[in-house]
Amino acid sequence: MRCELQHRYSPEFEGLPNDQSKFNGRHKCAGCAYEKGMESGRLKASSITIDFESLPNSQAGTVRHKSVQAAFARGYLNGVLESYQ
Ligand SMILES: [Zn+2]
Repeated sequence: MRCELQHRYSPEFEGLPNDQSKFNGRHKCAGCAYEKGMESGRLKASSITIDFESLPNSQAGTVRHKSVQAAFARGYLNGVLESYQ
């Protein structure tokens, strides 16, 4: 499964650290990880997990080789912040 969404080119992901470890969601789409984190954040989920297997792959654009954990965490934070607005 490969991500074809436009978020692959979002400049928002440029600042994320690189991570190519195969244990950390290597080649998974950081944009999709961000969206998943954001969903959990909006719901203020009290327990969060990153299911790497459920994320599509992406080797394109600004999400290429970016840390999926950092993307997820940033999404979670933004989702929580949004829930207060
Ligand atoms: Zn994606």
